[in-house]
Amino acid sequence: MRLFLPSLRGDTTKQSDFERDCFATDRNDVRKIPYLCTMPFTGKTVAFHTLGCKLNFSETSTIGRLFMEKGFSKVDFSKPADVYVINTCSVTENADRECKQIVKSALNSNPEAFVAVVGCYAQLKPEEISKIEGVDVVLGATEKFKLLNYINLSGKNINTEIHSCEINEADFFVDSYSVGDRTRSFLKVQDGCDYSCTFCTIPLARGKSRSDNMNNVIANAKKIAASGVKEIVLTGVNIGDFGYGREIEYNGKKQKEFTFLELIKELDKVEEIERFRISSIEPNLLKDEIIEFVANSNRFMPHFHIPLQSGNNELLKKMKRRYLRELYSDRVAKIKSLMPDCCIGVDVIVGFPGETEEHFLDTYNFINGLDVSYLHVFTYSERENTEAVLMPNVVPIAERKRRNKMLRILSAKKLRSFYEKQLGKTETVIFENENKNGFIFGFTKNYVKVKAHFNSELLNTPVSVSLDAFDEEGNVVGKVLTEVETL
Ligand code: SF4
Repeated sequence: MRLFLPSLRGDTTKQSDFERDCFATDRNDVRKIPYLCTMPFTGKTVAFHTLGCKLNFSETSTIGRLFMEKGFSKVDFSKPADVYVINTCSVTENADRECKQIVKSALNSNPEAFVAVVGCYAQLKPEEISKIEGVDVVLGATEKFKLLNYINLSGKNINTEIHSCEINEADFFVDSYSVGDRTRSFLKVQDGCDYSCTFCTIPLARGKSRSDNMNNVIANAKKIAASGVKEIVLTGVNIGDFGYGREIEYNGKKQKEFTFLELIKELDKVEEIERFRISSIEPNLLKDEIIEFVANSNRFMPHFHIPLQSGNNELLKKMKRRYLRELYSDRVAKIKSLMPDCCIGVDVIVGFPGETEEHFLDTYNFINGLDVSYLHVFTYSERENTEAVLMPNVVPIAERKRRNKMLRILSAKKLRSFYEKQLGKTETVIFENENKNGFIFGFTKNYVKVKAHFNSELLNTPVSVSLDAFDEEGNVVGKVLTEVETL
């Protein structure tokens, strides 16, 4: 532990089933996180704001359920609340400024509110966050799930409390999933990363790679199904690295106790869940067997998101990625040979130090020639304590922006072309629970976003839809073929 001002109150109380389930154990099932809060909070309100990735959403949702268990009611972040929780991200550009603005807007709604800042950025820069006026507590990687223990509703803290840790102490796994916030649920199966990509701070913010155990993942999938959710997105930092952490002998070789392939094979048997998606998987970990299994599964959707980062081998080496572009194109070809309509998303970074115009064009042309469906384009930005920040030949900001724009235009073209190939087909769509000006949106199995006229009978249930045309905004407009009551 790096500090600090303990404010734990009360004795360890009998844990509810949920708390026991939520506060999972470390790799060897020996270390329980104590849950110390005995304060009743009936009638109090809490609001959450999440920055960043699906993993953060799943963790906010889990923290939210702990608050509900203690009597809090959840309110929208724009409304007055007794407690505001901001779950931060280390990847967010200008995280500091953004955090300041969010704290300010919370205190505008209720100047007396207790404000907690947790998550990746809170782990990396606790002192910086503690200087933001109005923040009562800052919790890092090991402490965020114990937030209730630090809540003080008797008035704002005079000094901001920081409860943080050395990141190598973050060696236990806390399971999480989102329910009730979205039609889809994000189920965390893995955390942390043992890779050392030279631009990335995630290992510093989340620690080493560790995973949930198989039985707990299956149990969580069933709990999610019981809440009515039809689709689960498996999330983690590096989920292809799933494996309980222990190595065992298998056929004379050492391997992790469970592999990601074994995990998805077991999840595929959870009949209550209609659809599983794999959020993102490193190309070097996306083995033939995983692709073949997904191609033959009715529950795992034909949709992959595979980080590329650069299409130039020299840059990939500088980034310390664990593959070359030839492996990447081989993975895409393998997927497309088995699932011609599979949706493939690509992460790419522009403006990495030393990226010349030739390198960038190499990336552009490489992606242009790949049969992929959309890009997530990130503009490189300097991060403290990374190897890349010390590298020479920094790319000017304006040039980074220009390259970003070029790739975003390419992404729009790729998506349009992918969607065009889907027009005229009849697909199963699950529509999301939101009425957007008389329309609803949902996704096909291969992640085509479909728009239809709102009808509450359509929500969160698989329906057959013919994909007819584009609207003026480029959305695919569908005609629902399944008979439903018209309201
Ligand atoms: S694989 Fe690389 S980019 Fe991804 S989390 Fe690990 S270190 Fe970061």
